[in-house]
Amino acid sequence: MVPFYRIAALLAEKPTGMEIAVNGWVRTRRDAKGGFSFLEINDGSGLANLQVIADEALPNYHDEVLRITTGCAVRITGVAVPSPAKGQEIELKASRIAVEGWADPLVYPLQKKRHSYEFLRTIAHLRPRTNSLGAVTRIRGSLSFAVHQFFHQRGFIQVHTPIITTSDCEGAGEMFTATSLDLDRLPTTGGKTDFGQDFFGRRAGLTVSGQLEAEAYALAMGNVYTFGPTFRAENSNTSRHLAEFWMIEPEMAFCDLAGDIDLAEAFIKHLVRHVVENCAEDFALFGRFVDTTLPDRLHRILAGPFPRISYTVAVAELHKSGRDFAFPVQWGADLQSEHERYLCEEVFDGPLVVTDYPKTIKPFYMRANDDGKTVAAMDILLPGIGEIVGGSQREERLDLLGERMTAQGLDLDEYGWYLDLRRYGSAQHSGFGLGFERIIQFVTGMGNIRDVIPFPRTPGSASG
Ligand code: ATP
Ligand code: MN
Repeated sequence: MVPFYRIAALLAEKPTGMEIAVNGWVRTRRDAKGGFSFLEINDGSGLANLQVIADEALPNYHDEVLRITTGCAVRITGVAVPSPAKGQEIELKASRIAVEGWADPLVYPLQKKRHSYEFLRTIAHLRPRTNSLGAVTRIRGSLSFAVHQFFHQRGFIQVHTPIITTSDCEGAGEMFTATSLDLDRLPTTGGKTDFGQDFFGRRAGLTVSGQLEAEAYALAMGNVYTFGPTFRAENSNTSRHLAEFWMIEPEMAFCDLAGDIDLAEAFIKHLVRHVVENCAEDFALFGRFVDTTLPDRLHRILAGPFPRISYTVAVAELHKSGRDFAFPVQWGADLQSEHERYLCEEVFDGPLVVTDYPKTIKPFYMRANDDGKTVAAMDILLPGIGEIVGGSQREERLDLLGERMTAQGLDLDEYGWYLDLRRYGSAQHSGFGLGFERIIQFVTGMGNIRDVIPFPRTPGSASG
């Protein structure tokens, strides 16, 4: 049996002088004068292609090899030899080339030229065959491993929180409904849809956050985290919002807001360091072709502690700026993305932690501060991205939590299980959510969040 190699391993190991096999897709074919052709093969294992020399002595050279075009799937056997060409150490001298799948060049949409990301979005099923989307895909996969590595190294237990839930964590009503009712013949009661007849006997939806369930597990297991898909039916057609995205949510018992920020900062640094150290080839592509300031920006994340300021100080900074923002700056109003970007891109020129937001703009579960006006919340902002992390110390006091929920119009009976966590063995606890796609945007410099997830779901678009 001829040993099989993935191209990345082959280029690293360079097993010259022996026969080996590779599979992949042809990026280009070039015919030389002396009766042979060069094929550039990529198999997804890395950015670099393998150069294959196809000699006319191959039995199918004239019938098949000369008809090979960009996109064809091939299985190749050959001997790796040192390459005389610049930029590659070895090439493969083919003894056998089998074309497994043709790709008609008259209709195959991915030709050798550079395509725009907008165009590639219209062929989401083919775009992983390009250099940039291939590199994003490898970085995404590697970062997913780094997420689990980070928490396992620290003794956190992963919990799988439900995707179908009945609790709207943010209380914002931006949930997708999950129903099995016949939409053409909805049962009604009092003029409204009767969800009592639906699958779960009540209205259910796709989760907007696993936090509330993670809290239940943190108050039993100590430190837990979730990493799963999250759904928001918000109509934000921006370069930083998806209707379906992946979120990492750690939750820690016996931990206050400062400890929560410490963990989030260490986590962001771990992910950035992972990409710089373990995804060097793909990372270099983005530094060269997508954003030349990227390497410097990432190294600055690792350089020192993230500055921490309160919301009140942030508002004062914005007032001091004298800028004419589209959204007026006012204590009590939420920071808009223009404000967040001004603070971290122009004032601090790097990552920034903002804490202690007004309680009126934050959800019920955040812990009330002694000033009566603010809650123990924190957001982490990154240059070019804005909010990457949103977190808080949770309200562990039953009476105060009940008051907040009532004030926000929530039905206490619905959240009986959540209140139980404060009735029995309540403890200080904190957590946060980090958007996986946003950190991928940050480490790749990709401008649009639709290009860092395989099949993006956004308002008006869920195909492929
Ligand atoms: P934003 O203000 O940016 O809309 P948010 O305050 O609604 O975000 P959280 O509910 O705090 O977000 O969610 C935690 C994290 O999840 C955010 O910090 C962000 O990184 C990520 N995130 C939130 N909404 C989206 C979305 N629609 N698409 C992708 N990532 C998101
Ligand atoms: Mn937030």
